[in-house]
Amino acid sequence: MGRQTGTIVQQALDILLADPAILPLLKGNSREQIFQSIGAILSTPNKTHKAYLRITLDSGNVVRIPAYRIQHNDAIGPYKGGIRFHESVNEDEVSNLAALMTLKNALHDVPFGGGKGGVGINPRKYSERELYLICKKYVQYFTDILGPDKDIPAPDMGTGEREMDWMTAEYKSIHPGRPYLGSFTGKSIVSGGSLGRREATGKGVYFSFKYMLDHYIRSNLSTLETYNNPYLPIAKSYLNRPLTMAIQGFGNVGAVIAQEIFNDQSAQHSVVAVSDRNVTLFNENGLPIDKLLQYSADHSGELPTTAEACAEYHIDAHIQDREAVLYQEVDVLFLAALEEQIHERNVDQVKAKWIVEGANAPITGEADDVLAAKNVIVIPDILANAGGVIVSYFEWLQGKDTQFYSEEHVYELLYAKMQKTLDQVFPLFFSQNHQLRQSCYNHAVMKLSLVLYRQGKLY
Ligand code: NAD
Repeated sequence: MGRQTGTIVQQALDILLADPAILPLLKGNSREQIFQSIGAILSTPNKTHKAYLRITLDSGNVVRIPAYRIQHNDAIGPYKGGIRFHESVNEDEVSNLAALMTLKNALHDVPFGGGKGGVGINPRKYSERELYLICKKYVQYFTDILGPDKDIPAPDMGTGEREMDWMTAEYKSIHPGRPYLGSFTGKSIVSGGSLGRREATGKGVYFSFKYMLDHYIRSNLSTLETYNNPYLPIAKSYLNRPLTMAIQGFGNVGAVIAQEIFNDQSAQHSVVAVSDRNVTLFNENGLPIDKLLQYSADHSGELPTTAEACAEYHIDAHIQDREAVLYQEVDVLFLAALEEQIHERNVDQVKAKWIVEGANAPITGEADDVLAAKNVIVIPDILANAGGVIVSYFEWLQGKDTQFYSEEHVYELLYAKMQKTLDQVFPLFFSQNHQLRQSCYNHAVMKLSLVLYRQGKLY
């Protein structure tokens, strides 16, 4: 388990140990022993699988590519988590992401455990045929441990519905006659995917912010004022006014967040900055999101990088360097690109008072502490970006039943599930003076602890 995740889980265990309402019959030494057992189980994966995939490249050369599937914990259900194709993939990173999946699923009451996979390649450097072979080989090497009731992968960085379709097809041909639609999620619609899966993460990210401000805080203001929570004055100052927003990343997650803000016209919020791997675009009066989405759709997901390209699509924007998005004078900053974007060295330049994590781990532990000291509200990844895995769960259910839902129904179910979690953790956050990230971990670890205890796994 990574350092930051390990520290937050340990803090959660200390808090639960001191709370007599959690496992009330356990006292004294036996109570401490049980909590140590929980720590030992959650800090290590159940199983680590590693293989070197043998691939014949288009050149005729044979290479061996490192591939992982790490199964962290299945106390709540079959392992579930994406497969990442990235050249920096290593055992520690995959293991940490698998642990995060265990916690994320527990937090949102998704009946899955946590797993993660990875292949150590830069997919941009491989042909389509080579990627197809890598996907097939991945399933062949790990076929015994995968399956709809064992371990269900999904897309992650560097993979998408194309790779999931290839992997599902390979699983199907290795296991003829067996149910296969639930073996992978994030498939294309024609291959048994779910409507709304692609949009689910971005929609969930915006929903987590919107629900916190416009529903939870607004409806519970008089109760919240009695808690003397240092974050509340900022939250109150955001009520009943249009807000300025910036979004880092304009891919699957970031572009959908932008679309959601654009569609939420009655709120009159404006997106003043967006960015991608090349550029930040800025306009203090608000960017034309519909035109940016059109440009991105016409240019393989990229934003315009020159004044001429902007002019062609009637986009009125200043072109800045790609990091500039992080330092804008805005009310809300959405992080939807990569890990570790706000860190010790740049955190002091961040001006937003409210940050929402669409990406996984975009803020380092050190930067998180600096932001907390300034009372910046951070809606963490584990809470905000779970829309993808929640709709993956609906895809798995639809595949098992071979009954498919309408897009509207998928979003209804998604928002209902997220709302249930938000209603559980927001009261903990406002009444207990922890960071919201800690409140979420406390809730997830409590759920896992109770399950492990009831299953007799702690003694
Ligand atoms: P994506 O590849 O579709 O988009 C990533 C975006 O980030 C692109 O606009 C890219 O240009 C930009 N980017 C890349 N490098 C950058 C850099 N150095 N600086 C600024 N921008 C950069 O990916 P995505 O699916 O939108 O995922 C974004 C993040 O959200 C990832 O961290 C991913 O793990 C996380 N996430 C995604 C999902 C999902 O369902 N897609 C679910 C949970 C978490």
